[in-house]
Amino acid sequence: MAATATAPTKARVTPPKVKAEQPMLIGGKWVPSVSGKTFQTVDPATGKTICEVAEGDKADIDLAVKAARKAMDGPWGRMSAGERGRLISKLADAVESHKDELAALETLDNGKPIADSLAADLPLTIDCYRYYAGWADKNHGQTIPVTGDYFCYTRHEPVGVVGQIIPWNFPLLMQAWKWGPALACGNTLVLKPAEQTPLTALRVAELATNVGFPDGVINVVPGYGPTAGAALAGHMDVDKIAFTGETSTGKLVMTAAAQSNLKRVSLELGGKSPNVVFADADLDAAVEGAYFGLFFNQGQCCVAGSRLFVEEKVYDQFVEKMTKKTKGRRLGDPFHPDTEQGPQVSKEQQDRVRGYIEAGKKEGAKLLVGGSDAPSSLAAAHANGYFVEPTVFTDVKDDMKIAQEEIFGPVMSILKFKDAAEVIERGNRTFYGLAAAVWTKDVQKAIRLSNALKAGTVWVNCYDVFDARAPFGGFKMSGIGRELGQYALQLYTEVKTVYMAV
Ligand code: ADP
Repeated sequence: MAATATAPTKARVTPPKVKAEQPMLIGGKWVPSVSGKTFQTVDPATGKTICEVAEGDKADIDLAVKAARKAMDGPWGRMSAGERGRLISKLADAVESHKDELAALETLDNGKPIADSLAADLPLTIDCYRYYAGWADKNHGQTIPVTGDYFCYTRHEPVGVVGQIIPWNFPLLMQAWKWGPALACGNTLVLKPAEQTPLTALRVAELATNVGFPDGVINVVPGYGPTAGAALAGHMDVDKIAFTGETSTGKLVMTAAAQSNLKRVSLELGGKSPNVVFADADLDAAVEGAYFGLFFNQGQCCVAGSRLFVEEKVYDQFVEKMTKKTKGRRLGDPFHPDTEQGPQVSKEQQDRVRGYIEAGKKEGAKLLVGGSDAPSSLAAAHANGYFVEPTVFTDVKDDMKIAQEEIFGPVMSILKFKDAAEVIERGNRTFYGLAAAVWTKDVQKAIRLSNALKAGTVWVNCYDVFDARAPFGGFKMSGIGRELGQYALQLYTEVKTVYMAV
C-alpha cells in the first residue's frame, strides 16, 4: 500500500458560543443597565456582532460604588488576610480550569491568535492571580523605634473602593494586574473593561462569584470611556483609580480625580520604545527579538519596540533578514492554531494604523514589506475583518510621524545610528518612557545603555519578558506608579502610623 504522507494539519479551534445578552455584575447580582441600553461587541476577524452587552453609565457606576462600599464595610473588611488569599488562589484555580474556554473567548472578542491566547495571555493571567494570592497575608507594617516613651507601629490598610479602567489589548491580563494586588491588599473594586472587549472580564467575574467572593467585592460595569469611565474616575466615593490606556486619556482620568475627591491615581500609558541593535549583537537573535517585540499581539502593545535603531555597520544585513522574516508572517483566521497575526481590534484601529502607513509613505520612509489591509490569501469569511499586513519601513527619520507617535499596530520603523552616545540621545528624545531594549554582546555597553535609557523596563538581549514578580510601569508620560511585583502593593495600600504612649 502506498503511503501518502501529508503532514497532519492542526484543527481549527471552535469559536465559543456566547449568550446573546450579557448583563453586568453589581453587588453580586447580574443586572441590566439602569437605562436599559446595550452596546454591541464585535468579532474583529469577521466584523460581525458577537452579542449585546449591558451599557453602564453614571447611574450604574453609582450603584456599583455603593455595593463596593457596602462590601468594604461588611464581610470583606472583616475577612482575615489569609482567607482573602485563599479566595484569590481559588480564583486562580478557576481561571486555570477554564483556560481553554477563556482563551477562545479572548480570541473571539479581541482577534488575537488562539495560539497566543493559550501560550501567553492565559498562563500570565493565572500566574498573576496566584502570585498575589500569596501576598494577601504578607503586606504588613513595621514597628519603629521612635524617640520618647511611645510604642510606634504602622498598619498597611486597604485604600478602600478602587475604580479600575482597562484597555482592549490584553483584557484578561490587564484585569489580573488590576484585581490581583487590589484584592490581596483588601480593597473592593469596580472594573470598567474596554468597550471593545468586555466578554472575558464578565466571565472571570462570574468565576469569582462562583468561588465565593462576597457580594459587592467585585463589580464589573461595561460601557464607554467618556460615560462610564469618566463617572468612575470622577466619583466622590471612589478612593483610588487605576487606569491603563492612552496617555491622552490618562490625563483626563487624572484631571477627573483631581477635580473630584483627589482619589489616588495610578496610570500605565503609552510608549514609543527604542529597541537598539548594536553591530556586535547576535544578529539572528536580534532580528527574532525585534520582530517579536513589534509584531506580537498585532503590534497592539504599549511596550512595542516601535523605534528600531540599528547600527549602520549591520543595517543592510539586518534589514534584509527582517524583510525576509516579516514576509513569512502568517496572517488570517485567529482560530487557526498556525495563525501568527489576527486582525486589529476594531475598524477604528485599522483606520488609524492605515493612516500611519500613509503618513510614513508621504514623509519619505521606504516601504519594504506590507502596507495594505490584507493579503489575497485571506479567506472570504474574513473579508470584512480588520486586518493590516505586517509592514516594515526603513530609512525612517526621527522627526517622522511614524517615529514619534504610538501607532499600536503592525508597523515597524527601522532607523540607522552610528554609536552609543548618539543612540542614547535619540532614544531618549521622546516624552514617553515605558520600555527599551539593547542587543549587544558587550557587557559594558549593555550596562551603559540600560542605565542611560529613561524607561521603566529595559530588556537586554531579549524583549517583552514579563513576570508577575517584577514591577512594570513608565517613566515620564508613560505613567505613574508600578504594577506587578511587590511594588504594586503600594498602589493599593494606605499606611497608617500609630503612636501609643507607654
Ligand atoms: P484606545 O483609544 O486605545 O481605546 P483609551 O485610552 O481610549 O485607548 O481606552 C482605554 C480605556 O479607557 C477604555 O476602557 C476606555 O473606555 C477608557 N476611557 C476612554 N475615555 C475615557 C475617559 N474620558 N474617562 C475614563 N475612561 C476612559
